[in-house]
Amino acid sequence: MSKIILTGDRPTGRLHIGHYVGSLRRRVELQNSGEYDKIYIMIADAQALTDNIDNPEKVRQNVIEVALDYLACGLDPAKSTLFIQSQISELCELTFYYMDLVTVSRLQRNPTVKNEIQLRNFEASIPVGFFTYPISQAADITFCKATTVPVGEDQLPMIEQTKEIVHKFNSIYAPETPVLVDPQALIPEAEACKRLPGTDGKAKMSKSLGNCIYLADTADEVKAKVMSMYTDPLHLQVSDPGHIEGNTVFTYLDAFARDEHFERYLPDYANLDELKAHYIRGGLGDVKVKKFLNNVLQEELEPIRNRRQEFAKDIPEIYNILKKGSDTAREAAAQTLSEVKHAMKIDYFDDKELIKAQSERYLK
Ligand code: ATP
Ligand code: MG
Repeated sequence: MSKIILTGDRPTGRLHIGHYVGSLRRRVELQNSGEYDKIYIMIADAQALTDNIDNPEKVRQNVIEVALDYLACGLDPAKSTLFIQSQISELCELTFYYMDLVTVSRLQRNPTVKNEIQLRNFEASIPVGFFTYPISQAADITFCKATTVPVGEDQLPMIEQTKEIVHKFNSIYAPETPVLVDPQALIPEAEACKRLPGTDGKAKMSKSLGNCIYLADTADEVKAKVMSMYTDPLHLQVSDPGHIEGNTVFTYLDAFARDEHFERYLPDYANLDELKAHYIRGGLGDVKVKKFLNNVLQEELEPIRNRRQEFAKDIPEIYNILKKGSDTAREAAAQTLSEVKHAMKIDYFDDKELIKAQSERYLK
């Protein structure tokens, strides 16, 4: 069986370091590993509209921002198909048919949707499109028969929902030769990368919450955000023993710091374990740790920022890349949709046997 990747992001803002460690960095590695037959990367504008219905301009503007972030991180249009969700109308058709396979109570149980409804104060007036977006996400994943979906941990309930739809579809409509492919989520191994917290230390870093370090932030912006980050509220004096758990600066170091960073920027310590041990003992100030984190982040983000500026010099070419990618994705979606319709017995005009049998029945 082919190995196929599908993943994507909502164009609700520029991408941040949570996206980077949660999914983007992994995608680029997988792309360059050469182990995958096809890689589809989707800008989920239709999904973004489900909770930004009165702000289409925000979604429209951010499509190009997300595309620039992709290219800056190393996604290569020669190896990966970059496309825009709304341009693939087949996805709406797939969603419509999958809706028959999911109950309202099942959607209500989805923990990510529950959480997002609360975040957006949607309790009393949930748009139907938002409520059903896990079903549309199943269409996104299955149109290209994706086997692997590299995502952050918050997406696990979505993959679970997709698997249920795949199993139900295949068992009802295609029990002998399955049409849809069962996808596997690929979650980061490091705990810190699964759900990177925001700079405020409260929730997950999220475009909608304004607690982000963006890939496109300038060096000064990154530094200012790091220096004002949430740490350990009980660590008042340098000599006080500190706490690592829930200390966002250390969570970011878990996600980004490697031993060679210590050699370069903090040679008194061999690795992160030594730094943590000193912090816990007491005698290590927050400012020193933050300065180190700033150096580590700057080293990782500078080449991304520079490449982004280069790509931004030819914006028409970026739209071209997205248009070509959308054409490629549409072809794959049309193929899957025709298999789906055949399995569901709604391919009347292609079914010569059906036409023949019906006419014989009436001729008798
Ligand atoms: P929004 O607030 O509009 O939902 P978002 O910042 O949550 O935006 P998404 O576009 O929903 O970003 O997520 C895109 C991908 O990035 C998903 O795979 C998601 O799991 C991952 N991701 C997003 N935020 C984080 C994070 N803080 N840590 C790890 N992964 C993340
Ligand atoms: Mg999100």
